[in-house]
Amino acid sequence: MPLQALDHPLAGHLMAGLRDRETPPERFRALAKRLTTLLVLQATASLPTRTERVRTPIQETEARVLDSPLAAVPILRAGLGMMEPVVELFPDVAVGYIGLERHEETAIARSYYSKLPPLEGRTALVLDPMLATGGSAAQAVGLVSAAGAARVVMVCVVAAPEGVARLEAAHPGILIVAAALDEGLNERRYIVPGLGDFGDRLYGTG
Ligand code: URA
Repeated sequence: MPLQALDHPLAGHLMAGLRDRETPPERFRALAKRLTTLLVLQATASLPTRTERVRTPIQETEARVLDSPLAAVPILRAGLGMMEPVVELFPDVAVGYIGLERHEETAIARSYYSKLPPLEGRTALVLDPMLATGGSAAQAVGLVSAAGAARVVMVCVVAAPEGVARLEAAHPGILIVAAALDEGLNERRYIVPGLGDFGDRLYGTG
């Protein structure tokens, strides 16, 4: 499976808070932000680097610096809850937005907005917290790849096996980084056990 699931005690702890139905939106947003920091570190672990000489106060030495521009593309609206840590960790990141909404009954994703920066040569992180059916993710990764991204990493909080399989089928070899791989989808295409509607939990809607 092209899925890297976080294996860190802090990730488990933060996931417990996100899953808890009693967690209010303010705390949910804070937990999502902290967990996304861990996810983004994992998603960028193999970014290309180069060696540079730097002079410390003591002597000259070699240092490893980033050698590949990064882009981040949150899928509206839930992906917005994952943006802040990306910008904090990578202040030079180029940011694009894709608006996809899924039909309540068919769960088919419809694109209503797409604004992408130039992506040629960039590693692009597609941010969508819930990889459920994989329909939105596959569509977003397709848009980002078509815009010229050199490499695309799907970053999500919870993944369902159905979503992982569909994304992998549409984009073979894509790296998916998630905090948890759950059991599957229910009849309404929500992830089980999941954490409910991520966007609603972030913003107190629904
Ligand atoms: N989107 C969500 O917010 N939650 C799910 O469980 C599935 C899709």
